[in-house]
Formats: sequence, structure tokens, C-alpha cells
Amino acid sequence: MSLVIAPVAQACEDATRVRLTEPVAFSAQQLAEFRALPPLRVVAVNAPPMARYDEDHHTYSGVAIDVLCFIAQELGLHYDILPERNITVADKIAMVQSGRADLFLPLSLTPERAAGGVFTQPYYDSYYAVIARKGRRLAVTSLADLSRLRVGVVKGVAFESVLRNIVPATRLIAYDLTSSDGLFRALQEGEIDVAVFNRNIFTEKRFQHDYFNLEVVHTIHEFPRGYRFYLSPSPAHQRLAAAFDRYLAVMDVSRSVAEHEDGERILIDRYVAERSQRLLLQAGLAAAALLALIFFIFTRRYRRLARQLAGRNRQVEAQQRELQTAYQTLERQSQKDGLTQLANRVHFDQVLAHEHARQQRSHLPLSLLIADVDHFKCVNDHYGHLVGDDYLRAVARVMAASVSRASDLVARFGGEEFACLLPGTAAADAQLLAQRIVDAVDALDLPNALAGTGRLTISIGLVTLVAPGMTVHELVDQADAQLYAAKHAGRHCIRSVELGLDATQTVGG
Ligand code: GH3
Ligand code: MG
Ligand code: MG
Repeated sequence: MSLVIAPVAQACEDATRVRLTEPVAFSAQQLAEFRALPPLRVVAVNAPPMARYDEDHHTYSGVAIDVLCFIAQELGLHYDILPERNITVADKIAMVQSGRADLFLPLSLTPERAAGGVFTQPYYDSYYAVIARKGRRLAVTSLADLSRLRVGVVKGVAFESVLRNIVPATRLIAYDLTSSDGLFRALQEGEIDVAVFNRNIFTEKRFQHDYFNLEVVHTIHEFPRGYRFYLSPSPAHQRLAAAFDRYLAVMDVSRSVAEHEDGERILIDRYVAERSQRLLLQAGLAAAALLALIFFIFTRRYRRLARQLAGRNRQVEAQQRELQTAYQTLERQSQKDGLTQLANRVHFDQVLAHEHARQQRSHLPLSLLIADVDHFKCVNDHYGHLVGDDYLRAVARVMAASVSRASDLVARFGGEEFACLLPGTAAADAQLLAQRIVDAVDALDLPNALAGTGRLTISIGLVTLVAPGMTVHELVDQADAQLYAAKHAGRHCIRSVELGLDATQTVGG
């Protein structure tokens, strides 16, 4: 039997990460037998870094794949990884045991599994880890430390018996194998202090299930869990398993392990980075929504306040208008004489001063007329004050009705004296107006028994200023003087004077 030394093949790409520390030789007959085997039907599980399924490319990669690729290359084997993915690990193991598949990867050895198939030597050691909630600060540096804690473990794993020797039964809780997630939920909810679980698989779960509040607090190096190939128990596969073992005995997989563990780290880092970005984006969106809400609330409040303010402003404006009206009414009242409703003396003096100043500038004529009721005292004495008041009101009406221009002003000048200011009215026109007043009072035909005429009459003093050079006082004095002259002349008449530049003219009435 001639021995053929199988070359350390480099053709399989993944196999370049695997190296033999010494050559492995097979007889030509053995090699021929392996090459004659139909392609191996391989079932795999997703257990990085031993085997990771790539969803995008529908391929597997990992330490187990590198090793399988290398050995297949060496022995001239062909293999296909079966597409079954949605079945359980137990189902896949059963496929190998019943001959529906040839090889399972990766798997750790248990006596039950060994009874139904053939295991190779291990090619990758994984470790159990003690996992706790972040920030718990549990001082776990050795297995003995677990005796004080409430410990969770997956039911039926090889390590369960080790734990039973350390942790009191009341504090050791075993969770169902099919839902190891129950173990991590219990940990998160504080039902247990720590979980003991495969370190690599936890790392995978950690980022797939967002277990980022959990962390490995201690790695148990004392009980490595060797992952192996698992073949169907047929004689041909038993021989194949033995051939695998010869390679595995001299195989250095350190590069493959480093490569895939690094790959894991990069993948996880990338996932964590994407997750933080997602969280950041969510936080940004939440902040934006909050800002929008605050903005909405403030805008609404602002609009309400603005509406209230506008309402108040309208009220204030209405009150201002009322005040203005009241003020104007008051002002008008303050300018009026209560008995006759004519302008009072104060208002008359203001208008007189104003018109006098205007006359001084314009040189237009300004006439001032003062009327005094004749023998009025007799009216009071004879008919009483109330009748006297009625007479005064009647004379006031006559006076007010006699003037026609808007600029003319009629006022009560004193007790039974009235004044008429006639801006822009020449002496002749003023004279006519005075006469109309005298006649109109006559026409009232109000009895005054003690007067010579037997009825109410008035006397008028009239002055017309046609040039500047005379004060208001002098003007009034001149009008008074003319009135006095009229009284002196026997009453019921007009006396007037025109005050010009050259000479003062007196006109009789
Ligand atoms: P004369 O022709 O010289 O003007 O005689 P007279 O009686 O009118 O003279 P006098 O100026 O002395 O009298 C004015 C009177 O007018 C005196 C006063 O009692 C009266 N009198 C003044 N104001 C009022 C008033 O508001 N009502 C009434 N009823 N009488 C008034
Ligand atoms: Mg008088
Ligand atoms: Mg009088």
C-alpha cells in the first residue's frame, strides 16, 4: 500500500486561513474512497464565529467552514450546504442521525448525540460566561463566587451539572433550552442575579435582541466547550470522521479564529454604531416633535393672549371715546351759561381775545355789541325773579336768532347784559343787526309795567374796530361807554362808534 502525501492545498479560499503543523498522508485507496463519495449534504446552524449565515448572499462563513473547506480540498470531497434554515437544531441533528444529511456543523459533544452519530475532534473552543445586568457591580472572579447568587442556566446543558455542585438548588434556576431568551428576560427583570451561558452565542444574541443592558462579568475558562463536526453513523462516514481527526490533530486554526472573531467584533461595532445612529435620529425626531408641540402650545397661548389683548384694547378705546365725548360735553358745558344756554363770559372773553388778535393782523373790521335790558330791576320787583329769568331766556333767544354767520358769537355778558362779537362785520352791518335785535325784543311784547314804554326794551352800545392800535380792554370800555350813552339818551336805543386810523366816529342810534 503506497502512501500519498496530500498536498496542503490553497485552492479553497477559506482554507488559506488554516495551516497544518505537519503533513497528513493517506493511502491512494483511502483517498479514492473519499473521492468516490457523493457530495456531502451539510446542515449548519447560525453560531458565529464558527458558522455565520449571510442573509444577503445565502452563504455560510466561519471557523467551521474554513476547516471543512480545507479538509474537503485535501481529500477531494464535494459538499453542499442544505438550504433548510427554518428547522430546529434538534431536527437537523435528527437528519444526520437518520441519514437524511451527512454532516452537521458545529456541535458540542453530549453522550446522547454521540450515541446517534460520529463526532470528530474539536476545532474551536467556546467558553461559558457569567452574564449580569450592567452596573450591578457583582464581584464574580471565580466559579465559587456563584454560590452566593441566584443563578440561571439553560436546562440540560452539560454545564448544568457543574453548577449543581456549586450553587444551592434553591438558587439555581434552569430555563427551557428552546427559549434561552427566557433566561435573559429573567436576568433583565431581576429574577436571577446572573446567567451562565455560551459566551459567543450571547455576544450574537446581545446585538440581535438588543440585550445591551447585559454584560459578561466573568468568562469561565475551566470548562471549554469543544465544537466539532458531527457525521452520520454510516461506516463510510465513520472512516471519514477518522480522516478529519487526523487533520484536526495537526491543524492550526488560530488565523481563522482571529479573522472570524475580528469579523464578529467589526460586525457588532457596526451594528452598535447603526443602532446609536438610529437612537440619535429617534431622539432628534422626538426632540423635534417636542419642540413642535411646545411651539404649538405657545403659539396657541400667544394667539389667545393676543385676542384678549385686542379685546382689552377695544374696551380701552371705547372707554377713551366715551371719556372724550364726556370731556367734550363738559367742555361745552363749561363754556355755556346755565340760564340762557348762550356762551358764558369766560368763553366770550377767550374768543374776543382771539378775534381781536386776528383783527390786529388782518385789519378787517371787528364789531362788538353790548345789550342791556332796560329797567330790568323793575321786572324782578314787579313780576318776580322767575319771570325775570324767563325774560332773560327770551332775550337770549332773540339775540341768538339775530346773528347769521358761523363766526358770530352771542354770549351772556353779565346779569341782564348780552354781548355779540361780529368778526369781519363793518359798522353799517353791525348797526343793522343791532337794530334788528332792538326791534325783535320790542316784538316780544313782554310787559314791563314800570318802563316808560310799558313793555320790555333793550339798549345797545356798539363799537366797530377798523384798524389796529387798541387793546381788548379799551374795546370793551368803548362798547360800555356807548351803552352808557344809550341809557343816558333815554334807553331803547343804539349808540355806536367806529374806531379808525384817523378819527373816531360816533354814530347815533
Ligand atoms: P337800567 O335800565 O338802567 O339798566 O335799569 P336796570 O333796572 O336794568 O338796572 P340794574 O343794572 O341796576 O339792574 C339789573 C338787575 O338785573 C339787577 C338784578 O337783580 C337783575 N338780575 C341780574 N341777573 C339776573 C338773573 O339772572 N335773573 C333775574 N331774574 N334777574 C337778574
Ligand atoms: Mg345792567
Ligand atoms: Mg338794565
